[in-house]
Amino acid sequence: MNTLIKLFFVIIILPKVMFAQTSKKNYEYNIDLLHMSNDEVRVSFSPPKNNLKQGKFVIPKLVPGFYQAMNFGQYVSDFTAIDKNGKKIMTERLDKNSWMVYDLSRVKKISYQVADGWDSLEKESNEARSAGSMFIKDSVFVINYNSLVGYFEEMKDIPYQITITKNKDFYASSALDYKQKNKITDMVWAKDYRELVDSPVLYSVPDTTWLKIGHTKVLVSFYNKKERNYSKTIAHEIENILKNQQAYLGGTLPVNKYAFLIYYESSNENGFLGDGLEHSHSTVCLYRSGSMKFLPNALNRVASHEFFHVVTPLNIHSGEIQHYDFLNPVMSKHLWLYEGMTEYATIHMPIKQKMISLEDFEKSLEEKIRGMKAFDNTLSFTEISKKSMERQDQYMNFYLKGALLGLCLDIRLRELSNGKIGTQDLMQMLMKKYGAGKYFNDDDLFDEITKMTFPEIRTFFRDYIEGTQPIPLKEYLEKAGFNYDEATGKVTSLPNPDAKQMVLRKAWINQ
Ligand SMILES: [Zn+2]
Repeated sequence: MNTLIKLFFVIIILPKVMFAQTSKKNYEYNIDLLHMSNDEVRVSFSPPKNNLKQGKFVIPKLVPGFYQAMNFGQYVSDFTAIDKNGKKIMTERLDKNSWMVYDLSRVKKISYQVADGWDSLEKESNEARSAGSMFIKDSVFVINYNSLVGYFEEMKDIPYQITITKNKDFYASSALDYKQKNKITDMVWAKDYRELVDSPVLYSVPDTTWLKIGHTKVLVSFYNKKERNYSKTIAHEIENILKNQQAYLGGTLPVNKYAFLIYYESSNENGFLGDGLEHSHSTVCLYRSGSMKFLPNALNRVASHEFFHVVTPLNIHSGEIQHYDFLNPVMSKHLWLYEGMTEYATIHMPIKQKMISLEDFEKSLEEKIRGMKAFDNTLSFTEISKKSMERQDQYMNFYLKGALLGLCLDIRLRELSNGKIGTQDLMQMLMKKYGAGKYFNDDDLFDEITKMTFPEIRTFFRDYIEGTQPIPLKEYLEKAGFNYDEATGKVTSLPNPDAKQMVLRKAWINQ
């Protein structure tokens, strides 16, 4: 009997004690999507156990992937802190995105209202909506946690436990695993704030399709007010792209799970609007157009680029990215890598995998060259990367000249290695050396890559990425058997390439 009672206690008491201990170290959040008022969501949380006299609570000013202040704190109102007896504790709003909470060790609960950043894609807006949140009661919620959840500067790198109250037929589409507690309650955990913000969620009646690409589980989730059965059509397109990306990346995709969260709005206008933001294990795509016909094609392009971000920055990034400061972020020098190399892979993969013709590839190069000419190409790429917040006017060039610099680097590497090594191999080597948990020092990357490859590559970086020498497109394309006419902007295959050019071209684009 004695043993039985002991056993009983061990089983019943122990989990409770363990839960109490771990929960004290978490941020425990409650978000209510079911009982909304004035188009606002009620959010509350208990801070982690602490001995602090006061603490600075932060809602992000901006998030990774964007380079302009978005001030997510502007959507927060009615910020209140109470102690365990329900008595108010003093708080003070410091600016748009931060609050001082006094007597923090006594605070039992903090609550506030959150308004959404957008309701529809209809109105013109300079704000990137893919980083914000939208709520339509009983219909759909696009949630980026940076607009709902915050952190204390004194208590960073702490896990989050989020409890969400939602409509009973709603499903949480996300890269994180949501556990259903009951029909109207979900729970989700994130190891820290960075991971939570990196994992948006689409809440709605599900229109979802799962794919399996190698060992990677891919969720395609679609929302449109009228069309409730379209994820399968889109998943079919995405599957083709991902299989080619898998081959391009050497046979395996470097993530176990990935989610495409697609919100689509019908309109009566011509043309279309697209807005997307990539994350480590998911991407949010927002579209608005008069017809759904364009969607598969538009998604093809966006999905391919966004998915290639699983290589960089997810698996290759600097300390500035790993320890991102949501209030005053320090920018990295290496946007040529994060966006330039990602976009280069997006245009290189289709020709390497024989998905498009040589003419189509030449056209895609001409498009990049034409686009690049609208920007100031006499600036140092590492400098405008470091100052990307001030140099918004040059930012798009990372997708244009940045991709073409990737092309030149690829040709140079293949030339120096007799065709054995290109940027595909370089990215694999960098992923092996660094990976998701290990960052590089911003100042050391060029030297590290040089050590892994050839001394001549240091000169390439010095001249064209750090320096301001014009991109050597004509010279490099000729090495691989192409003519680039600088006057007309045309790229064409040389009619009689020599053996050396043929070998390099084969190694570079498999043609
Ligand atoms: Zn990108």
